[in-house]
Amino acid sequence: MIHRSFLIALVTIIHLLFVHGVALAENTGSNTFPSVSKRYDEAKFYYNQLQTNSKLSATRENWLKGTRNFRRIYLSSPKSRFASPCLYMLGRLYLDMYKTFEKPIDLDESISYYKDIVRLFPQHRLADDSYFALGTISLSRGYPQKAADFLTEIVTNYTNGDMHTKAGELLKVLSKEHDIALPKIMISSTGENKLSYVLPVKYWSSDNYTRVVIMASGPVNYKEVLLEQTDNTPRRLYIDFKQSYIEPQYRAPVPIKDGLLERIRTGQFSPDTVRVVLDIASIGSYKIFSLPDPFRVVIDVRGKGHGEPADQDVAAIPTIANDLQRTKKFFTTTDSTDIVVLKGHKKKPINATVSSTASNNRSHRGKATQPDRFSLAQQLGLRVKKIVIDPGHGGKDPGAIAFNFKEKDIVLRIAKQLAPVLERELGCEVLLTRDTDVFVPLEERTAIANTENADLFISLHVNAHPSAKVRGLETYYLNLSTNAEAMRVAAMENATSTHQMSDLQDILSDIMKNSKIEESSRLAQQVHNSILNKAADQGYTNIKNLGVKQAPFYVLIGAQMPAILIEIAFITNKEDVKNLNDPAFAKILTQDIADGVRSYINSTTAQLQSFDFNEDTSYDNAL
Ligand SMILES: [Zn+2]
Repeated sequence: MIHRSFLIALVTIIHLLFVHGVALAENTGSNTFPSVSKRYDEAKFYYNQLQTNSKLSATRENWLKGTRNFRRIYLSSPKSRFASPCLYMLGRLYLDMYKTFEKPIDLDESISYYKDIVRLFPQHRLADDSYFALGTISLSRGYPQKAADFLTEIVTNYTNGDMHTKAGELLKVLSKEHDIALPKIMISSTGENKLSYVLPVKYWSSDNYTRVVIMASGPVNYKEVLLEQTDNTPRRLYIDFKQSYIEPQYRAPVPIKDGLLERIRTGQFSPDTVRVVLDIASIGSYKIFSLPDPFRVVIDVRGKGHGEPADQDVAAIPTIANDLQRTKKFFTTTDSTDIVVLKGHKKKPINATVSSTASNNRSHRGKATQPDRFSLAQQLGLRVKKIVIDPGHGGKDPGAIAFNFKEKDIVLRIAKQLAPVLERELGCEVLLTRDTDVFVPLEERTAIANTENADLFISLHVNAHPSAKVRGLETYYLNLSTNAEAMRVAAMENATSTHQMSDLQDILSDIMKNSKIEESSRLAQQVHNSILNKAADQGYTNIKNLGVKQAPFYVLIGAQMPAILIEIAFITNKEDVKNLNDPAFAKILTQDIADGVRSYINSTTAQLQSFDFNEDTSYDNAL
């Protein structure tokens, strides 16, 4: 019995050895059965056919055949070097099928194959690719946190893999868009991953000047590049904001079409770079600078022939150039997406920023009470036609506060009184940058004056000082300054630190090439002297003369017309405050300012008398 059993066992063993031997022969060398490598290549070839042959890819059965190819290879050799690539290809195939046929079961299949790879072959080079695929699938299904978990695996455990950078960038976007905490490994790396938010682009536009302002949640490094026109693309200026992010809802293109700019396009150029593109229709020049607190980048674009005066004295002649372009647009408010909307108004700006006084007195314009005073200017066509008065601060920004008075209230009251006086005395139109208690950013005030083609810009403020004894009148125009007290006042009005002011000085010299420094200085002097002398004549002998000064006031930067800022008095000094609240003083003050402006106009006209307009062709050239 034992002998027989042994024989049977032996036969069985021999049989097994035989069969096994044949199988080995088939797998290793025989031509009758293809190798795993060759079968994988064939499966891959068929997959590529599915990608490129639309007839083939139209039928679901063909796709299923593609999956069977890889599945067979995997099942026959689950430990071969092709096992992981087969699973990866299955993940891809089912994802493609899901995209083609939209059957949820295919997506589930895809996910399970990618998960098989990271579970069975965590060290394989395709493991991090699988995590990335799982991440993007989760994101497309609306599971950002799940996506972040998969991507975190990559940045944490596959630091040398080819998906490491990509995963990190996508995580930063997820962190911003979905408020998902970044993995520890990313946060600990010196905080360089903190992105600043870029806010919606705002702009103010006319046919010879456009101001674009881009705000950010914090200081941002930026660089601008001007690209010249090619056959396929228009001329454009783009600004890249580094380490920045912009919300998707703010990325819609903003059409402008004012003759200077076609549109502004904003996008997340890369995970940490926001690109703002200005598609140019036709511009003569542009200036770009940034202001702090809050950080914003200002781009002033000027039309051809209007932007760069060849000679300051001649270019300073008010209204000559302005007569050439009377049509303008005026923005009003923001819509729900916070993008400034242009509302086309011709000549009649009806909105909150415009003085109601100006509108009410519109019928009086043109029949000025004392036309003889500026007859020469009229004769030459040089009359100041439009003045913008800018009552400082407003809304959330009260300006200086003392003795229960707020600067914003005082200057608004005086501005409203000044507007009709200027209209009456000078026969010009007067606009206010605000006529209610609203906040208007500094850069918007200049933009209003520029887009309105105003001839003069007068900003009204009240000063403040730590010492209650300090009092007096000072009048400013825009320029660099080395005067510590002037810089203190400018820093106060700019709502920024003196430290940041000194940074500004460096770039200001370039910005100021367009500003009318000499004219502004004369206007400041005339108005300043008029207030001092005439107020004294009328009993206000206690006004202390602090002089005409220069300093870098944000609100004056980029103004195309002569522009001044009057610090009427000190809100921190009792005697000055008494004047500020005295209706008789306000009446005299506004009259004195008007007289000062008239003196300026007359002196400008007197300067021009030296020109012989009939013979001197330089006048025409200057236009
Ligand atoms: Zn102020």
